[in-house]
Amino acid sequence: MSHAASANPYIVCKDVRKAFGSHEVLKGVSTVFRTGEVTVIIGASGSGKSTLLRAINRLEPHDSGSITIDGVEVTDDPRTLQLQRSEVGMVFQQFNLFGHMTVLDNVTLAPRRIRHTSRREANDKAMALLKRVGMQDHAHKYPWQLSGGQQQRVAIARALAMAPKVMLFDEPTSALDPEMVQEVLDVMRELARGGMTMIVVTHEMGFAREVADRVMFFDQGCIAHDAPPAEFFSNPANDRIRSFIGRMS
Ligand code: ADP
Ligand code: MG
Repeated sequence: MSHAASANPYIVCKDVRKAFGSHEVLKGVSTVFRTGEVTVIIGASGSGKSTLLRAINRLEPHDSGSITIDGVEVTDDPRTLQLQRSEVGMVFQQFNLFGHMTVLDNVTLAPRRIRHTSRREANDKAMALLKRVGMQDHAHKYPWQLSGGQQQRVAIARALAMAPKVMLFDEPTSALDPEMVQEVLDVMRELARGGMTMIVVTHEMGFAREVADRVMFFDQGCIAHDAPPAEFFSNPANDRIRSFIGRMS
């Protein structure tokens, strides 16, 4: 379990709806993600997990309802959006590193471009972050010279370089060879231990049990259940959850 979550709501979703054509993918999602809280989201493929994360940083605009980050509504206003995106770090299943840039340049790019941090300061901070994810010895390599697990750790360092207040992870270990999953989960566990607010979509039930403050089960565009892990896993709320947990464990 991470630090006890504070009482401060950081991201608030109210009746968030989203359809692609006639297919309603989010059917009125309402929830609060609090500062310091680690939420693990699980649920079948297609249940809307990625769409919710993408709506939070406006990669996918929602149709109705509202999402606020630190009290400010997520809209298309470009200045607000840029600020919000710098406070919301995102790590995807595919590592998405820039292939023609070194590890160090990948990590310093956003601080230099968006925050106008000097090269020297950006490099110093990047090296500290790379150390934190165990990648300091690879700073001058290119992504193709790294394993998937190493690339994903760099992707986490890159997201942290903007000093986000919350980190969203969308199946960060799903594309990795099994032997690389733990090294990435270890980095995430450390982040949680340091008090980072995190929303993590994952099928790693061990991580959910150990690290999450709450586990949320998505079912066909709705939050079907939301409970602390001990309760969630020991006493599944219904048969769909029970069978999902059974398949994943
Ligand atoms: P999950 O992450 O839980 O697997 P998603 O949020 O990715 O689910 O997707 C939910 C549903 O929305 C799926 O049926 C998916 O095919 C559909 N969907 C997601 N993105 C798009 C899109 N850009 N256009 C059309 N349909 C989409
Ligand atoms: Mg997804």
